[in-house]
Amino acid sequence: MTKEQKSTILRLRAEGYKYVTIADTIGLSINTVKSYCRRQGAASQADDVPCCKQCKKPLVSKKGGKPRLFCSDECRNNWWKHHPSDINRKAYYDKTCAHCGKPYTVYGRPNSKFCSRACASQHRVKNAEAGS
Ligand SMILES: [Zn+2]
Ligand SMILES: [Zn+2]
Repeated sequence: MTKEQKSTILRLRAEGYKYVTIADTIGLSINTVKSYCRRQGAASQADDVPCCKQCKKPLVSKKGGKPRLFCSDECRNNWWKHHPSDINRKAYYDKTCAHCGKPYTVYGRPNSKFCSRACASQHRVKNAEAGS
């Protein structure tokens, strides 16, 4: 886990997001997020009873299924209507490509260095040549 990820976890936690949301946002497993929060004392009982983000009704999650955030499609639609890309925007990082110098935006990868795979591999080749 990077420093940025850790502080993102704590920030989202402070804003009341559930582990599953935080995990999705920064691309870590729920268990990683959970155990980190426990260690930081940021755990709360709210996560033991998953509730619909929109109407706050307790959710009955299907065993083995993906943890759900909403009790119904209606609630999901309503929530997103009122929170346009609220969560997703937090996972976007403005970066400058370490190879071509172009600014770019990356989703969910705070450690990203290159705007594209091509730049990443070209950079690696360049470094290898410089090193030999
Ligand atoms: Zn609901
Ligand atoms: Zn580039």
